[in-house]
Amino acid sequence: MSFEPSRKNFEKSIPQVSFIIPFLDEENTLNILRHQIHTVLSEQQVSYEIIFVNDGSKDSSEAVCRALVNDHSNVKLINFRSNFGKSAALSAGFGEARGEIIITMDADLQDDPIEIPRFLSAIEEGVDVVCGWKKVRHDPLGKTMPSKLFNAVVNKTFGLKLRDHNCGFKAYRSEAIKSLNLYGELHRFIPALLHNRGFALCELPVQHQPRKFGVSKFGAGRLIKGALDLMTVALTTRYASRPLHIFGALGLIMILIGGLSLSYLAGIWVLGGGPIGDRPLLLFGMLLMLFGGQLIGTGLIAEIILSRSMDERSKYEIRDIVVYNREPMAALVQKN
Ligand code: UDP
Ligand code: MG
Repeated sequence: MSFEPSRKNFEKSIPQVSFIIPFLDEENTLNILRHQIHTVLSEQQVSYEIIFVNDGSKDSSEAVCRALVNDHSNVKLINFRSNFGKSAALSAGFGEARGEIIITMDADLQDDPIEIPRFLSAIEEGVDVVCGWKKVRHDPLGKTMPSKLFNAVVNKTFGLKLRDHNCGFKAYRSEAIKSLNLYGELHRFIPALLHNRGFALCELPVQHQPRKFGVSKFGAGRLIKGALDLMTVALTTRYASRPLHIFGALGLIMILIGGLSLSYLAGIWVLGGGPIGDRPLLLFGMLLMLFGGQLIGTGLIAEIILSRSMDERSKYEIRDIVVYNREPMAALVQKN
């Protein structure tokens, strides 16, 4: 008996474009969305597959989607056992996608499929990642203001100039997105992570619709989670291969400030300025020296762990390898 998920009805030929649509309790929109995508792609004469990822829905979304899979050979459904988050859902979708171009969309109809041809043209022009930009956004202020702050901080951290990192509507050359390992809520950092790996990004203004069905799945905790994730991403991308540079630098700064404070006190004591034992600066200086030393130690331990565990290949991204070719093309083709 095989435990492989059933794929018997899925189209055998490789489609040009794969859509990945994660959803959590979106029973009202899945049918409409599939139909809208089909209309646009048929006009463009582009072959496609749709991979819906059910991220632990509790409403009738799964049944709706199962019916779609039954009716359409190019629709596939991945069911999670529980709610693992949008990043995990996207990741599962990327793993299954077969198209050379991968497009992600939210399932709630806030992203308009009418924009798809513009995404495809941008990829054809040569960029690796096209990020949707909800220029006119139909979301409450409690969502748009934190987003602005988030975009500004991520841009500053990664040297990027995108206005909408968190838009769910994006297109990728498949080799770009398949190089990423997403988990938790790191989907917000996809553009930053890909930029860091040297892929070419561009931004495309898109129509954004108000949410007509269901409710938003991301609450007010987003900003705090986003700030914590930013630290993780900055650390794992910019300093993952040289942890001592960040821990060591912070530690040295602390030791320097602590050392200066203690030298100042020592100077006072030596020059007869009175007792220094009850000066708060003494405690401050000593704590900084101690903590600075600890940080440098942490950085060194991180370096030791890294030198034993890091896979060399994950440090860099190869676009292609060019070799000198002596034999004429015809001979090469015959050999293969
Ligand atoms: N979503 C998901 N898993 C989650 C949260 C959200 O798959 O844990 C899906 C959701 O169903 C939608 C997309 O991610 O298709 C974007 O979510 P939402 O519309 O709630 O976010 P917002 O547009 O409010 O930022
Ligand atoms: Mg939405």
